[in-house]
Amino acid sequence: MSESDFQTIRGAGFLFALALALSLQRLRPYARWSGSWRVNGSFWIVNLVVIGAVCGACACTVARWAESAGVGLFHRFSLFPPALQLLLTILALDLVSYAWHRANHRIGFLWRFHRVHHSDPAFTASTAVRFHPGELLLSLPLRLLAVAALGASPAGVVLFEIVFTIANFFEHGDISLPLTFERLLQHLWITPALHRRHHSRRWSDLNTNFGTVFVFWDRLFHTYLPSSSEERVTVGLPDRPSCSSLREALLLPLAAGTPTPSP
Ligand SMILES: [Zn+2]
Ligand SMILES: [Zn+2]
Repeated sequence: MSESDFQTIRGAGFLFALALALSLQRLRPYARWSGSWRVNGSFWIVNLVVIGAVCGACACTVARWAESAGVGLFHRFSLFPPALQLLLTILALDLVSYAWHRANHRIGFLWRFHRVHHSDPAFTASTAVRFHPGELLLSLPLRLLAVAALGASPAGVVLFEIVFTIANFFEHGDISLPLTFERLLQHLWITPALHRRHHSRRWSDLNTNFGTVFVFWDRLFHTYLPSSSEERVTVGLPDRPSCSSLREALLLPLAAGTPTPSP
């Protein structure tokens, strides 16, 4: 797979994930938040330029290099059939994302950047792209290292990115799922209700439900907090007002603040 194929497939996955979340928000709204599209859309554009310039399709490049150099678990030991490798790639990279997210809440320096994501006064699909470029840049080495250590194929990486993007837009959606379906889905997948709880203004809720795709990691590492679309959640930062301007949100890492207490 070439870098341009990788970018095209990833772009199509992004549009599909956005359309799905927007449709569900319209069909089954939770709080009818209007969303912070102006600020969050600006973050998306800034990140597209910054990460595009620094990395582009670098995850694909690293996967191709690992393949040709025989680096990484899957290339060193031919233990698993290709289909199982794809599934393990998604699981492993989702676990890395869980660990990174948890570190962002634990380490004061990382929290300064990550709290920009939590400073959204609303919780809608647009929150899914509200990340400070500093946070994305800091996460890059770990993500690339994980791809190389695993020996993930370019197809595995792009499949993970599509699943991750769909899950990211879905979990941030202003969506109220039917309760029986939601309860069933929460055995496997992070639902909007679970992640909405993670965006709560209470410290104790903020330090739960760190997963993006699968719910297993929160259950396994005891950070799982059940939640349902019936519960009302006030979103934002516990120790300061939300940021409703781009300038304020971009400069938030420089402001004083409390690192989140450990879960
Ligand atoms: Zn968080
Ligand atoms: Zn979030």
